[in-house]
Amino acid sequence: MNHLDSPLFKALFDTNAPRIVLKANAPDFTILAYNEAYKVATNNNNREISGMSLWQAYPGEESLIGKKVLADGLMLALETKQATKLPVFEYKIPDNDPTETQESWWQLEIMPIPGNDGKTEFLLTTTHNITALVLRERNFDSSVQREEDLSRKLADTHEQLAASNEELQASIEELLTSNHALSKSRHDLESLNIQLEERILRRTNDLEFNRHLLQSIIQTTPVAMTLLVGGSLIIEHPNPPMLNIWQRTWGETVGKSIIDVFPELKGQQFPKLLANVFETGQKIAMPEVVVDISSKEGNIKQIYVNFSYDPIFDGKGKVVYILATVMDITESVESRKKLEESKVALQFTIEELAASNEELAATNEELATTNEELQESQDSLFLKNEELADAEENLGLALESGNLGTYSVDLVSRKFEISNRAREFYGLAETGDIFWGDVVATVVPSYLPIIEKARNKALIKGLPYDVQYPIIQKSNGELRWIRVVGKSTENSKTKAAKFIGVIIDITKEIDDRQKIEDSEKRFRTMAEGTDVLIAVGDETNMFTYFNDAWFKLTGRSMENLLQLGWVDLIHPDDKERYNSIQLNAFDQKIPFTSEFRILNKEGEYRWLLAKSPPRFNTNGLFVGYISTCVDITELKKDEQRKNDFIGMVSHELKTPLTAINGFVQVLQSRARKTQDEYYGNALGKTHNQIKKMTTMINGFLNVSRLESGKLSIQKIDFSLNDLLREMVEESDLIQYSHSIDLSIKEPIIINADRDKIGSVISNLLSNAVKYSNAGTVIDINCYTDEQNAIVSVKDQGIGISAEDSAKLFQRYYRVGSNHTISGFGIGLYLSAEIIERHDGRIWVESKENVGSTFYFSLPL
Ligand code: ADP
Repeated sequence: MNHLDSPLFKALFDTNAPRIVLKANAPDFTILAYNEAYKVATNNNNREISGMSLWQAYPGEESLIGKKVLADGLMLALETKQATKLPVFEYKIPDNDPTETQESWWQLEIMPIPGNDGKTEFLLTTTHNITALVLRERNFDSSVQREEDLSRKLADTHEQLAASNEELQASIEELLTSNHALSKSRHDLESLNIQLEERILRRTNDLEFNRHLLQSIIQTTPVAMTLLVGGSLIIEHPNPPMLNIWQRTWGETVGKSIIDVFPELKGQQFPKLLANVFETGQKIAMPEVVVDISSKEGNIKQIYVNFSYDPIFDGKGKVVYILATVMDITESVESRKKLEESKVALQFTIEELAASNEELAATNEELATTNEELQESQDSLFLKNEELADAEENLGLALESGNLGTYSVDLVSRKFEISNRAREFYGLAETGDIFWGDVVATVVPSYLPIIEKARNKALIKGLPYDVQYPIIQKSNGELRWIRVVGKSTENSKTKAAKFIGVIIDITKEIDDRQKIEDSEKRFRTMAEGTDVLIAVGDETNMFTYFNDAWFKLTGRSMENLLQLGWVDLIHPDDKERYNSIQLNAFDQKIPFTSEFRILNKEGEYRWLLAKSPPRFNTNGLFVGYISTCVDITELKKDEQRKNDFIGMVSHELKTPLTAINGFVQVLQSRARKTQDEYYGNALGKTHNQIKKMTTMINGFLNVSRLESGKLSIQKIDFSLNDLLREMVEESDLIQYSHSIDLSIKEPIIINADRDKIGSVISNLLSNAVKYSNAGTVIDINCYTDEQNAIVSVKDQGIGISAEDSAKLFQRYYRVGSNHTISGFGIGLYLSAEIIERHDGRIWVESKENVGSTFYFSLPL
C-alpha cells in the first residue's frame, strides 16, 4: 500500500510545518511528497517537483556549504536510522523571478521511516525557513558592534575633553595671574608717566629760562659773541659787538651758515677748528689771530682778534652749540707793533757800537793766545825729546830681540858704532873700537865691488843702502850671509854726517831659498824631461805652469797656454763631462781622474788620462791643483781591438751554439716520444749547460757592444712582476739547489728594455745562487717608493767586504778570494751600465759570511 496516499498520512502531513518526504535512495533522494507549507517556505512557485531528485528540484549551486550540510545530514539519518537535527545552514532557493535565487537560512529535522523489511524507506524532513530570524540577528549583531565602537569613541572623546578642560583651567589661572600683574604694571606706568610729565615740564621751564638767560647775557655783554648751531654752523643770537666786527646786520646773519655769510673763511683755519670742537667737545682759545673779514662791498680787511670757541652740550653730552667769543684787539696789536719796530732800530744802533768794542777786545785776546801757544810748544818740545829717548831705548831692545844688529858709521872718522849682536854676526871682538876696514875684511872678496857700488850710490845720491853678501866670520871662519840696510843722515849744525842702519843674519833664509831653488830646479828638470803632461794651477783655478810636453802636444807656447789654457781643445763629446768632473773636484778640493780626447797640433785627437791631486801648503791651505796627463791613445786602440776581438769571437761562438741547441731540442722531443728517461735527463742537462754558455757569450758580446757604444736600449711598457716571475721560473728549471722566494706587493708597470732588465735580474739571481750554499733561501722583493720601482735580491751567502763592494761594478772585477767559483767579472759591470742607461741606480748591502742584498731601482 502506498502510505503517502493514505488519508491519515495526508492529515498528519499537511500541517503548518513545511515538510517533504524523500525516498531513501541516496544520493538522489527522490522527492515523493511535500506539503503546502513546504511550497511556500521554499518559494516553489507551483512547480511540480514530485519524482525529481532533491538536487534537481533545488540545485543550490551557489550554496556549496549548505548543500554539503544537507547531504551529510541525509546520509547520517540514513546510516544511523535516527532522527537527525541539522545545524542552521544557508541554501539558496529560487526567487519570485525564477531566474534569480535568494539568500535563505534553514533548520532541518530528518526522520528516517522504515519499510516493512525494517530498512529505511523514506526520510521525512521538516524544513524551517529561518531566514528572517537570521537576518534580524545579523542586523542586531552589527548594531551591537556599532554601539560598542561609538561607546569607545565617546569614552575617548570624554577623556580628551577632560584633558582639554584641565588645560583650559590652567590657562585661565595663568591668564588671571597675568591679568593681575598687567593691571599692576599699568598702574605703575601711569604713576611713572605722571611723574615724567611733571619732570619734563619742570625741565622745559628750566631750559626756557636758561636759554633766555643765555640770550640776555650774550646780547648785553660788551664782548663780541654769537652762537653757532649744528654741524653747518648756523648763526644764532649774534650780539651787537659781533655784528660790529662782522660789519653785518642781524637780518644778514641770523639763521644763515657762517660759511655762507663769510665765504672767505673757507680757506682759513676756523671751519676746521669749529668742526673739531663739535667732534671732541674740547674748548679752543687762541690769542692774537689774524682774520680776513670782507665788507659787504667785498673789500678784505685784516683784523687781530683773541677768540674762543666753547662747546655747549645737550643732556647726553653731545655738542649742540658753540659759543664763539671774539675780542677785536687790532688796535692794541698795531700800536704794539709800532713800538717793536722802534725798539729794533734802537737795538741795531746799540749792536753796532758793541761790535767795534768787541773787535778791540779780540785783538787783545789774540795777543794773549799767541803768548800761551808759544809756552805750550816749548812744553811739548820738551816732552817730545823725552819720548824720543824712550823710543830709542825701545828700538834697541826690539832690534836685539828680533835678531837684528845696528850700526852707525861716522863718515868723517870712518869709525863704526856697532851693536853687540852685529859684532856677533861678523865674529868681531865684543869690545873695542871697530873701523870700516875691520868689517870689510870679513867679506868674501868677490862681493866687495857690489858693496862698494851700493855704498857710493847711498852716499852720493842719498839712496837707501840694501846689500846681501857672504862673510867669513873672523872668530871661527864660518860662512854667514849678512844683509845690511842703511841710509845716510844729513849733516846738521849739531851733528856730523852719519850712515846708520841694521844688520841681519840671513844665513838660514839663504839656505832655505837655495833648497827651494834646488828642488824647483829638480822638478823642472824632471817635468821638462818627461812625456807626461804636467800643469800646475793655483787656488783661483788659473794655471801657473805647463811643462814642455804640453807645448809638444798642443803646439801652444807656455805664454799661450797660460793665457788660453787647453780646455778648448777637448773633443766636443768629452768637454762637458771633463768640465763637470773638474769643477766638482775643485769645489770640494778633492783629487779627480778623467779620460778625454784632445786635439794635438797635427789636428788629430789623442786620448789622455788625467790625474789631478789638490795641493796644500804647510799650513794646510789649499793652493791649487797639479795635474798630470798621459797619452793613452795606443792603450785605447788596443782595448778597442780587444773588444772587437771579444765581440767577434762571441759572435762566432754563438752560431755553432745555436745549432747545437737546435739539435738538442730535436733530440729532447724524440726522447720524450720514446720515453727514454736516461737520454731525456742527459739532454735536459745539456740544454741547461748550453743556456749557461749562451748567457756567458751574450755577456761578452754585450761588453764589446757597450765598449764600442753599440749597446742599444729598446724601451717598452711591461709588467715588472711578470718578468720577475719568468726569471724565477727559468732559474728554477736550471737549478734545484736553492729555494727562491718571490714577494710581490703591488702591480708595477715600467717603461724599460725588457730583455736587458731581464738579464740584470738573471745575473743577480745566478750570483745569489753561485755565492751562497745550497739549501739556503734567496728572497726577491719588488716594491715602489714615490718615484721608483725597486727590486732586491737577497742571499745568505759569503757576503762581500766593504772594500770590494765599492769596486764590484767595475769591469772584470772579481773578489780575490772567490777564484774557485767560475765567472768573468762582467755580469755586474753590464748590469750597472744597463741600469745607468735607464737613469736608475744599482747598489749592494752586504756583510761578510752573512749575506748580500743587491738592489736596483728604475724610475717609474
Ligand atoms: P762573476 O760572478 O761572473 O765573477 P759579476 O760581475 O757578476 O761576475 O760579479 C763580480 C764579483 O762580485 C764576483 O766575482 C763576486 O766576487 C762578487 N759577487 C757578485 N755577487 C755576489 C754575491 N751575491 N755574493 C757575494 N759576492 C758576489
